[in-house]
Amino acid sequence: MEKRPALATLTTPVATGAFRLQFDNEEEVALVRESIDFFDDLQRRVDIGLRHQGYLFVASTDEGARMQRSLVEAQRQWGLADVELLDAGEARRRFPYLASNVVNARYRQGDGWLEPRRLALELARLSGARFRMGETVIGFERDSEGCVVGVTTDRGKIQAGTVVIAAGPLSGPVAKLAGLNLPLTTVRRQKLILPDLPQVPPEAPMTIEFETGAHWRPAGGGAHALWTAPAPAEPPLDDVPTSSAFAFGLLDPRSDHALARIAPFWQDIWMSSQLQWWLQAGQYTYTPDRRPLLGPTEIPGLAVNTGYSGHGIMGSIGGSRRAVDAIYGRLTAQDNPFRPDRAMQPRSFDVL
Ligand SMILES: Cc1cc2nc3c(=O)[nH]c(=O)nc-3n(C[C@H](O)[C@H](O)[C@H](O)COP(=O)(O)OP(=O)(O)OC[C@H]3O[C@@H](n4cnc5c(N)ncnc54)[C@H](O)[C@@H]3O)c2cc1C
Repeated sequence: MEKRPALATLTTPVATGAFRLQFDNEEEVALVRESIDFFDDLQRRVDIGLRHQGYLFVASTDEGARMQRSLVEAQRQWGLADVELLDAGEARRRFPYLASNVVNARYRQGDGWLEPRRLALELARLSGARFRMGETVIGFERDSEGCVVGVTTDRGKIQAGTVVIAAGPLSGPVAKLAGLNLPLTTVRRQKLILPDLPQVPPEAPMTIEFETGAHWRPAGGGAHALWTAPAPAEPPLDDVPTSSAFAFGLLDPRSDHALARIAPFWQDIWMSSQLQWWLQAGQYTYTPDRRPLLGPTEIPGLAVNTGYSGHGIMGSIGGSRRAVDAIYGRLTAQDNPFRPDRAMQPRSFDVL
């Protein structure tokens, strides 16, 4: 069921479509690894714009460099052996656009990005599933024992053995229609689209300043640039407003999270008459521990596949497979670290 007139038009097309194995815990590494294997296989059959241009996290302080070193050590213990830890000299030799204040960097060539809407539409096409567009779920059907047995829409009723809420930022309000409170908050996130910038090296990896989380990657002859600093929760929205302050925060070299801090060519771009941009906005759907909610809920017949924060493209395949396996009993609640009723430790530090 999709209430909008076309698939993948709310949050998914706003994503920059990036994927990485450089996580700070083993379970998310495994979840995303499964997605990336699937993306590679899919790319061999159909063009989803997949590129393994790597992720480069750059530290510009000694404290940041120390944290990067200990994260790489932990990642190696989880079997993630291909993350390279580069000292300042090596980082600047390999990536000459980096500034002289860089202290260290960690790089994984196998990380990268794809076109998220293309991925979604190809998955929809290849699934053979039937989609009902322009139809809004407005309630749930229950049997005499309270089990969910279908949905009510603005056009009628639909019966279903299991209903899965996968409504992105609107998952919270949809769950409330069934009397279920999901631990979700929504926060506005924006993407700056900068076309035709000869200064941006087209083969560059996703480049992230570790301390600020400001990041960019080559796209369409220019770049996409993003930043995910702490921001207040807002109600879930169908149309998410953009703000020019977001663009200036990344582009103006005087900003405390300017892209130019670790890649000085962004100063030239700021001064260039060629600079033009567009903004897109969507919402991250956060759980307290920043991990998705996957599988059956306390209400029989009702499951969820949501709450991916900034990782719903890279987590899509591993996450959906786990949700389906949990629904069919192939993944027990004890073996599912993403089960919706888990105890959650609030997690605030995760730069992207
Ligand atoms: C700026 C930005 C950058 C991002 N970058 C990345 C990235 O690089 N990599 C990454 O992995 N993730 C990224 N993300 C996160 C990613 O975009 C999301 O996690 C993902 O798109 C969520 O997909 P979804 O299908 O759950 O939600 P959505 O794409 O929002 O889809 C939910 C759908 O449910 C429909 N719906 C809602 N309510 C109803 C109803 N009552 N009835 C019927 N239909 C309904 C909506 O209309 C919508 O189409 C980014 C997000 C943002 C905002």
